[in-house]
Amino acid sequence: MTADYFPPLTDELRRQLIDAAAEARQRAYVPYSLYPVGAAILTASGKIFTGCNIEIASFGATVCGERTAAFKAVSEGEREFRAVAVVTSNGVAPCGICRQVLTEFGPHMSVIMANSDGKISWEGPLSVLLPFCFDPQQLAEGQEACKP
Ligand SMILES: [Zn+2]
Repeated sequence: MTADYFPPLTDELRRQLIDAAAEARQRAYVPYSLYPVGAAILTASGKIFTGCNIEIASFGATVCGERTAAFKAVSEGEREFRAVAVVTSNGVAPCGICRQVLTEFGPHMSVIMANSDGKISWEGPLSVLLPFCFDPQQLAEGQEACKP
């Protein structure tokens, strides 16, 4: 069960997340796109997990920085996300797949987008980026409806 509400991030925590994402971005493995992405997820317990995008010559195996961070967090026992900072050269949004993954563990989380200078280009709730999403409750309802 996830919290419906998190207190607003402090300026210090916001900056800490952006810095962690920027640092993770330095470790991106992007020989094909040359577009490094760094992400840092703050969990409800207060821990921060970072990730970078990792590209594979068989492109379908590539993973985004946000999902790297998310899967690191979940594999370490964290299942409730409070916020994510994503740092790219031009401060853009997480892709659709990452929005879906983040929604699974943080439907009420905040998203911060920043560029490589650390300047915030957008900050707001994930639900604005992925409205009317498919979520675990809808899956459960659908399974119930399939029962004979
Ligand atoms: Zn993505």
